[in-house]
Amino acid sequence: MALSTETGTTGQSPTPSGAEFFDVHGPADNRVVGTLPNHSPEQVAVMAAELRAAQPAWEDLGPDGRAKTLRSWLDWVMDNEQRLLELVQRESGKSWGDTAIETMVAVEVINYVTKHGAKWLADQDHRPHSASQATKRLRVHARPYQLVGVITPWNFPLGMPMMDVPGALMAGAAVLSKPSEVTPLAWAEAVRGWREEIGAPPVLACATGLGGTGAAVVDLVDMIQFTGSTRTGRAIGIRAAERLIPSSLELGGKDAMIVLADADIDRAVGGAIWGGLFNSGQACISVERVYVQAPVYDEFVQKLTEKAAAIRQGTDTDKSYSNDIGAMATEAQVDIVDRHVKDAVAKGARVLTGGTRGEQGFYYPPTVLVDVDHTMDCMREETFGPTLPVMKVDTDEEAIRLANDSPYGLAGSVWTADPERAERVARQLETGGVTANNVLASVFQFPLPMGGWKSSGLGARFGGPYSVRKYCRNQAFVSERLSLKSEMNWYPYTPAKSRIMGRVIRLLGLHDWRRRLGLKANG
Ligand code: NAD
Repeated sequence: MALSTETGTTGQSPTPSGAEFFDVHGPADNRVVGTLPNHSPEQVAVMAAELRAAQPAWEDLGPDGRAKTLRSWLDWVMDNEQRLLELVQRESGKSWGDTAIETMVAVEVINYVTKHGAKWLADQDHRPHSASQATKRLRVHARPYQLVGVITPWNFPLGMPMMDVPGALMAGAAVLSKPSEVTPLAWAEAVRGWREEIGAPPVLACATGLGGTGAAVVDLVDMIQFTGSTRTGRAIGIRAAERLIPSSLELGGKDAMIVLADADIDRAVGGAIWGGLFNSGQACISVERVYVQAPVYDEFVQKLTEKAAAIRQGTDTDKSYSNDIGAMATEAQVDIVDRHVKDAVAKGARVLTGGTRGEQGFYYPPTVLVDVDHTMDCMREETFGPTLPVMKVDTDEEAIRLANDSPYGLAGSVWTADPERAERVARQLETGGVTANNVLASVFQFPLPMGGWKSSGLGARFGGPYSVRKYCRNQAFVSERLSLKSEMNWYPYTPAKSRIMGRVIRLLGLHDWRRRLGLKANG
């Protein structure tokens, strides 16, 4: 049965953590748009047991069989695209343009992992590392973790789980997913499609609920893939360490954009607008702060302010593309943006456009701030909103130093006409990704690792074969080329055997003839 979400109730009341159900609010007007179970640890344990029971047959299906099922799911998602996107828009308050991007992730990721999965999961044969091991045959078997947990935040309700879940399923794992309580509707429906519409085995489940439900997932799985705040990620990393399970953590960011004097300013301004305001600034790799070299600073700021002021804001539920950016997901998120802007202004910053929260719904207008510095929260803390604080810098070194003056290290961008200069600056940035003359691009280059340094994470999301292999344990398989009765190093030790072994080791392992032949004194 398809998910029924619209209840028509209004008002927002916090859901107590012990409650059996929780409400989902639409940020455009704060109406309740859905009510879902707040799954208890006991309920999550039942889901986990069911997934574990189904996983062996899923693994036995092999990569080709799993790829076929994943592609059927993709077909179902695209056949139901409009309905799924309407759910995304209802729960997130996005503009239709920002909403429509979410299914693209499903297409890209499912096609990528199903196209290459069989090859990446194949046994890997290796040559022995030295002649002393020449009689060995070496092979790596990839065996999936039986149950992978995927916990996701609210900024891309469908797109975010679609980044990770297909890779884990392709690996042969069962997946216990847990979407954000702020935006669980579209993902819950996508999982229902898997379970009820395409005849797929029950190896994918969706636990809905608050933080306690997420914690129960971490307690039950064999590997956890988490995307969300640094605070929650740290707690999950600690719990995963206690349980000795691996965790891959994609956390917060404070990405810097560096505009050098030789950059194409019109393109850089367009990039700042897209990178800073896309999804109302609620993307982990959003442009959060901009450093512009003095010779082009005035031109950049003037053009940026004009473009930011022209951005159309609203939630075009008629799918007319009449808005560029929509609402923020929660009132708390609007509060953070408001606090950062007020803090900056109190410390001497100027607002060139925007700067005051919307009167209805959870809207905050595109905001350009200048005369900012690193004493201000807007330059140091993750804002996750449609703000563009711009700071004037003199040298490349000053821009790099300021960009690195952050506990975060997710991504960043450098803008220059000189490719070598771009690479030189990139190598000095303390971030997991750097883009030259573009923004938000590094996250969608699946052959490359996408992961944060410093407080922005641990591990990586993609990276060619790793996109699927990360959900597997590697089993080292060693077999013998010769079938000997015994080995030289087995008991009993004898002077003769140890003399021969010593000679062989010297002969094969040392680097000049005198030592190889034992002609140089020992000790
Ligand atoms: P959050 O950390 O508050 O919540 C994320 C998820 O964790 C939710 O599903 C939540 O229910 C769950 N959760 C909460 N407490 C938990 C616990 N103790 N154990 C297990 N699960 C728990 O994050 P958010 O506010 O939903 O998302 C915004 C954050 O996500 C931002 O910091 C943003 O930068 C980050 N983010 C990072 C990336 C990336 O790839 N690096 C991508 C998108 C968003």
